[in-house]
This record gives sequence, C-alpha cells and structure tokens, in this order.
Amino acid sequence: MKILVINCGSSSLKYQLINMETEDVMAKGLVERIGIEGSRIKHETIGKEKKTIETPMQDHKRALELVMESLTNEEYGTIKSLDEIDAVGHRVVHGGEDFAQSVVIDEKVLKGIEDNVEIAPLHNPPNIMGIKACQRLLPNVKQVAVFDTAFHQTMPEESYIYALPYEYYEKYKIRRFGFHGTSHRYITNRAAEMLGKDVNEVNLITCHLGNGSSICAVKNGKSIDTSMGFTPLEGLAMGTRCGDLDPAILPFIMDKENLSTEEINTLINKKSGVLGISGVSSDFRDIEEARDQGNKRAKLALDIFEKRVRGYVGSYMTELDHVDAIVFTAGVGENSIEMRESICAGLKSIGIKLDPERNNVRGEDKLISSDDSSIKVFVIPTNEELMIARDTKELI
Ligand code: ADP
Repeated sequence: MKILVINCGSSSLKYQLINMETEDVMAKGLVERIGIEGSRIKHETIGKEKKTIETPMQDHKRALELVMESLTNEEYGTIKSLDEIDAVGHRVVHGGEDFAQSVVIDEKVLKGIEDNVEIAPLHNPPNIMGIKACQRLLPNVKQVAVFDTAFHQTMPEESYIYALPYEYYEKYKIRRFGFHGTSHRYITNRAAEMLGKDVNEVNLITCHLGNGSSICAVKNGKSIDTSMGFTPLEGLAMGTRCGDLDPAILPFIMDKENLSTEEINTLINKKSGVLGISGVSSDFRDIEEARDQGNKRAKLALDIFEKRVRGYVGSYMTELDHVDAIVFTAGVGENSIEMRESICAGLKSIGIKLDPERNNVRGEDKLISSDDSSIKVFVIPTNEELMIARDTKELI
C-alpha cells in the first residue's frame, strides 16, 4: 500500500510518498512560493538524484499537479501511474472541538474543517485548498484528515479553560486547543515501545522544541495538558513567537506604538521569541554561535528559552503521579546537545541526570539519561508524516 502525505501551508506544500509495507519513504519534496514569483518544486525520489524545477504555480492545484507529475516522471519519479496511490493523508492544523481523531474526509468533514477557519484563519484555508485539489486530481482515492489539535482533545476542563468570562468559551470557543498533537502522539507511541510498556500505561513529558515549540503532559498515553493554547503562540519562547506574557502588555504597546491588531499580531508572531530577544536570528544554531562569541543577548535568549522549558517540565510533573520519561524531539530537541544538557542541568534538583556520552547524539532514538537518573530521558526524532500515513492506512 502506498500513501501520499500532504502538508499544505499558505505558500508551500510538503509531501511524502510512503510504502506502508515497510514504512519507508519512497519520495518526498517541497513546493515553495505557490502563487508568488519564483515558485519551485524540489523533488527527491529516494536513491535518485534530487530535482528542482522552477515554474509558475498560480495555486495549490497547480502545485499538486506538479507533485503528481514528479512522482510519475519516468526519469526522476518513483511510480508508473497515479493508480498506485492508495490513499492521501492530509495534515490539518485545526480540528477545534469537532475532531478528536483522524477521519476519512467527506462533505461533512470538509464542512467541519471549514467551520474551524474562524479560529485558524492562517492555517486551515491552505489545508482545505490541498484537500480540494487532491479531490479533483485523484477523485477515486480516499483522503484522510489528521489534526494537529486532535491528540489534545483529552485534556480536562481545568487544563483548557482560560480565566476569562466563561461566556467567551461558549460564544467563541476561546479555550486551549494545543498543537503539534501528531508529533506528541508519535513520540508517545515510540517512547512506550522504548520503555517496553503499553502505550495506555505511560506517563511522559514530551518536549517538541523546534522553530515552534510545545510541551505536553501525557498521562496513561493521553494528553492532559500542553503549553500551546488557543493559537500556537502560547507557552515557550519560540523562534519568532513570544509565548507566555502578561496580556496587559499588548494593549499597552498598541497604544504607545499606535499599532493595529494586525500589526500587534505580526509583532508577537513574527518578531518576538528568541529572534526578538537576541536581535540575531530565529535559528537556534545562529544564536548558539553568537552566544559562543560573547553576544550577551544571544545568551539571554537561550537562557529564557531553557528556563521556560524547565518551568513547564516542573509544572507538568505536579500533574502526573509519576513520570516514566521526558522526551526531546524536533529540530532543537533532536539536535542541540548543549540545549538538552543545560535544560537537564537545571532539573538536577529533581534527580534528573544526563549521561554526557549518551547525550552526544543527534537525530536518533536514544536513552540519554544516566542509570541513576530519577527519570529516564530520551531523544526521539519525530515523524509526523509517518503518523499521518499510519492513521490513513488504518482508516481506509
Ligand atoms: P519547525 O518548527 O519549522 O518544524 P524544526 O523542528 O525543523 O522546526 O526546528 C528548527 C530549529 O531547529 C531551528 O531553529 C534550528 O536552528 C534548530 N536546529 C537544527 N539543528 C540544530 C543543531 N544542530 N543545534 C541547534 N539547533 C538546531
């Protein structure tokens, strides 16, 4: 069985074709600058040379046509005909309260995703465009939606209700939804395997630390709390997002700087986080390098990032009776040896100890805590595409 996994952004589209007999990636690629000048597709069939084609793409349908052409290309493709694609799995950012699980897409589901556009105006519209384009290009192939929010639908009310007048939850569904759910779920399953436990019996704190970052408290295999909120802005300090702050700061800056709601939104989403603090970059490698060269604000940005991670880990420990493991994943969590080291150094008081040799690892599944650590610590590279493909296989 071959499953095509699609992740549509507003001007980009990532895809993977996965052979589900072996769970191997057959081909993958990225389409960039859809609808703007300089659109291109970078395609790679595993084992063949990478191919980049620059050509105008006015919309997601045209982008997907090029994906299909690349997959079936005689020279650099991987399948003979589109009939070989058994199903398509779509990453959908926001399922709101309507979707607690992945689902086969039909008219009702599509309407449900459209209904959630109001609370995810940046993310759901490109996801919908991707689904509709696939429906046109592959009319006889089943499509599945896998939601970033779904895993967190098991949170109890005390985790998801904000201390605002309750009517705003009722009127506008203002509540914590949480994101990166597919990643936290993949990590939970894999950590259970590595611990040799049933997934319904593991308690974990999963740390997805990338450009966007979130932490999740997992009790008996289910999310009971997470750091992102109504939008992916809450919680940790991220590449360019501010994370937690005193909400009164926003109207204050708006008044002082005469900013519109759109401008303040740009400020807290695109100009804040470790970029805003350091003034160097949103990329953790650049910031670590600047810190090593003595840049104080770069050091401050990393210190703030670490402190918040520790704060959430500490807080989630109080929500779980016991913790089987803390897991690091995503760009920073999988690759930054130093960041893991300094986060865990600050958790010494609760008995967490890394083994420096074991921690000297990038991008592979590994236990990195020492044998006398109070809680096991793992690195597990996330694989959201595989999780989407597995759900799709199961549902069709
Ligand atoms: P996204 O949220 O966009 O999916 P990723 O999970 O790919 O992001 O994470 C990207 C981040 O990971 C970047 O800030 C990058 O600097 C960081 N990163 C990647 N490799 C390393 C490394 N070796 N050391 C430190 N940070 C790294």
